[in-house]
Amino acid sequence: MKLIFEKGAPGQHLSLMPPCDVPEVQLSHPRTQPLDLPHVSETELTRHYTALSKRVHGVNDGFYPLGSCTMKYNPKINEDMAALFTQVHPLQPEETVQGCLEVLHESEKLLGEITGMDAMTFQPAAGAHGEFTGLLLIKAYHVHRGDAARTKIIVPDSAHGTNPASAVMAGFTVVNIPSSPDGCVDVEALRAAVGPDTAGLMLTNPNTVGIFDKNILEITKIVHDAGGLCYYDGANLNAVMGVVRPGDMGFDVIHLNLHKTFSTPHGGGGPGSGAVGCKDFLRPFLPGPVVTRDEAGYHLAAPERSIGRVKNFYGNFTVVVKALTYLLTLGREGIPDAAKNAVLNANYMMKRLSEKYDMAYAGPCMHEFVMTLQSLKDETGCSAMDVAKGLLDHGIHPPTMYFPLIVHEALMIEPTETESQETMDEVCDVFLSLWELAHTDPQALHAAPTRTPVRRLDEVGAARNPVLRYKAE
Ligand SMILES: *Cc1c(COP(=O)(O)O)cnc(C)c1O
Repeated sequence: MKLIFEKGAPGQHLSLMPPCDVPEVQLSHPRTQPLDLPHVSETELTRHYTALSKRVHGVNDGFYPLGSCTMKYNPKINEDMAALFTQVHPLQPEETVQGCLEVLHESEKLLGEITGMDAMTFQPAAGAHGEFTGLLLIKAYHVHRGDAARTKIIVPDSAHGTNPASAVMAGFTVVNIPSSPDGCVDVEALRAAVGPDTAGLMLTNPNTVGIFDKNILEITKIVHDAGGLCYYDGANLNAVMGVVRPGDMGFDVIHLNLHKTFSTPHGGGGPGSGAVGCKDFLRPFLPGPVVTRDEAGYHLAAPERSIGRVKNFYGNFTVVVKALTYLLTLGREGIPDAAKNAVLNANYMMKRLSEKYDMAYAGPCMHEFVMTLQSLKDETGCSAMDVAKGLLDHGIHPPTMYFPLIVHEALMIEPTETESQETMDEVCDVFLSLWELAHTDPQALHAAPTRTPVRRLDEVGAARNPVLRYKAE
């Protein structure tokens, strides 16, 4: 397939820009060469992107069990509601955007209720960005108390990969602690790791092997007793929303992935929202502005000791609109129901697949589970990668592969609550047939996929010599 830059011809471009009706301003660094834009007509442009869209697999195409990503169905009414807000400008005076401020205020209230937190910012644009923001809150808190020696963040090895990365970005040193054989945090290792240099702990819960840490209350107590704060990576909240509250478990800060749990299409690079919630004592450090309310209405206010902005304006506002729509649609019963069904679906698939596949950890699981295909590879030469490629021929998006790193030949499956039993049965049948195929005709599985627009890609080449930028001739 050609790139858009390789199509069309000079002069064919489509430009429907109205004449400039404001004074022209000379930029301080004007371009020295014209921008190299595609020269295509509207027809060509439309065909190009339609063709591209047909090569993409999304939740509207089929099963998408990408573990840790919560690729659930996103109700279309969310989009309708978000579209109501597209005519608003972020620089409008606050009295003209009371409805928008109400959306932020209501979302903060409802998500605060779900997480057990007192305040929230919607500025961070993604989960990892939320982690970074939350860690800056922790840092600001310690520094404000004059306890700048707390420079270490403890991260269990079952954490999402972004956790240690965010801690480093926020200027902390990461202390890695191992998991116990049951997939939970090794509590004794934690006890040994905390001290006067502990700024906090980041816990992904349920963790990346789909396990809710049974020692969670002890974990937060150990960290608090040592003077650290507890950060909850709530990107996997889909498993627990409306059922248990991180705030009640002793966590001080949390980020949510509104684009995962609260139903915004994601996976194509955004927009997302990594909303960060915190307890009252961290409120003064939040990024500004925050929304407050009095008899006169909603107002924008700057928190007293704010860490500053982490994004322009109010974050990806329409993602918050979608989350609020989703929350109000599901309501007080629907939210915990969704979580329980997510867990039920994962356990259903785990049970069916364990007929042939080895599970990395004994069930029951939460919203996702991890299989280890090491024995399949030893017996047949077919790896987790081969099975993943085999799924493509059946119109199924592969699960998360080779993650978490603590499991060999890992496939991490998260069906979500929005899949029917029939779909999960079909998918389980495919998984089981691929297991058979690995034993009867491993060559066929090595050759998969055969029915996709592109077949096996040169993964080593892509990793060693990535071409990340189009170069015009
Ligand atoms: C997805 C995810 C993240 C990162 O979120 P992004 O929006 O991709 O930055 C962090 N933690 C967990 C557990 C996740 O599943």
